Amino acid sequence: MPDALYDVAIIGGGPAGSTAATFLARAGRRVVLCEREKFPRFHIGESLLPVSMKTFSRLGVHEKFERAGFLKKYGGEMTSACCEEGVKFYFKDGYRSQSESSYQVPRAEFDKVLLDHAAENGAEVREQTIVKRIEFFRDRVELEVVQSSLGAPEKIAARYVIDASGRHSVIGNHFRLKETYPHLRKISIFAHYEGVELEEGRDASLTRQVRAADRWFWYVPLPNDRSSIGVVLDAELYRQTKKSPEQFLEESLAEQPFLARRMTGARRVTPAYASADFSYRLAQLTGERWMLAGDAAGFIDPVFSSGVFLALLAAEQAADILDIVLDYPRKARRLFARYERLLRRVMKGYLRFVDAWYSKEFIEVFLYPQDVLQIPPAVNAVLGGNISGSFAIRWRMAAFYFIVWLQRYFPLCPRHTLVAPKATEQEAALRSAA
Ligand SMILES: Cc1cc2nc3c(=O)[nH]c(=O)nc-3n(C[C@H](O)[C@H](O)[C@H](O)COP(=O)(O)OP(=O)(O)OC[C@H]3O[C@@H](n4cnc5c(N)ncnc54)[C@H](O)[C@@H]3O)c2cc1C
Repeated sequence: MPDALYDVAIIGGGPAGSTAATFLARAGRRVVLCEREKFPRFHIGESLLPVSMKTFSRLGVHEKFERAGFLKKYGGEMTSACCEEGVKFYFKDGYRSQSESSYQVPRAEFDKVLLDHAAENGAEVREQTIVKRIEFFRDRVELEVVQSSLGAPEKIAARYVIDASGRHSVIGNHFRLKETYPHLRKISIFAHYEGVELEEGRDASLTRQVRAADRWFWYVPLPNDRSSIGVVLDAELYRQTKKSPEQFLEESLAEQPFLARRMTGARRVTPAYASADFSYRLAQLTGERWMLAGDAAGFIDPVFSSGVFLALLAAEQAADILDIVLDYPRKARRLFARYERLLRRVMKGYLRFVDAWYSKEFIEVFLYPQDVLQIPPAVNAVLGGNISGSFAIRWRMAAFYFIVWLQRYFPLCPRHTLVAPKATEQEAALRSAA
């Protein structure tokens, strides 16, 4: 057994890992965090939700974010591929809104600010240190780690471990807990662009989403004239095209007038990245000496920009719970069960929202907001991350889903083809050529 015994070891230095590390270190716990990469490193997931603002306040990072030049984000806009304009929503108008803004962040810098913050708060942060193996004992857990410049494995012992290793799911793989959602086998292809045309004032900060028939697009404005732009579609559909990510992304964007118009003077400044099979859940989220947080605990489609929020929520909860459990180990079972219930409830909420999004009727209803029973403000609140909220939001969301379902059979709102006008012309040309 190694000489030192940490209170908590954390695998991964993304938003989940660094947030948990900061809270635990601040509580006076002995924390070690192992991160395989050297930060800053590229990561997708740049659009944040206002519901996370409280966590940022508790972390005490707003000033650092402002110094880093992160953009304030005030809402979003959604449209369908066959529309010229979309429907904008602003977080301030959400049902019982508590925050009018969040941030749009380049993740390389955002993650570094959070990781450095953890170190400044007293966590021992070891970058370029990969966790290779994990062994559980009755009274501790041991991690076998390799620091890249040393090469030789080393052991770290801790009373508890938080797995925040993102999609690598170190503990999930160890216990074979990962399960996929067969209906969400998607791929995303994305890149950063410079020179994308933005609107004036607050609208320059909005995340845009375009829903096409078999795919959807996002564009997220970032500091320094950059934008993150990507497309999501069925992985199998993409494979059949046999196109490179670059070719596929540029051709798909060119077919969308809403985006193409804004991208006339834009140029791609990063490679086109592809990320597949990102939606999954884990059969268990806690065990005798471990807790999963962030993507390591599961992820459901990027459409509602929920990933970092879920990572922060889980990390904050996990840290608070372990702070209690370290003093009162007998409370572990009850608190771990409560943690698991909370995360499952929030993830279930997102799963329902995501499933609705993938039905064509979602966007038809969304693009025709009627101020009935305050349903649009409730949907707005959920878009801001208030997913497991009050009964007042839950019943309105149930009404929204019911309207989306009804729309399938009775056109309560105008129908949309979800086909961009240009694509229709191309199809016509192809058909006549045939
Ligand atoms: C296409 C796409 C778009 C997205 N867009 C958004 C968005 O707009 N907004 C949003 O909030 N979310 C978005 N997400 C989700 C977001 O990227 C993740 O949910 C978020 O990064 C999760 O944070 P995390 O800390 O759990 O994991 P990560 O940020 O992935 O961090 C995990 C860290 O663990 C490290 N690690 C892994 N294995 C080991 C190991 N063995 N040893 C040591 N370290 C290890 C990794 O290097 C990494 O730094 C998107 C996801 C996808 C796929």
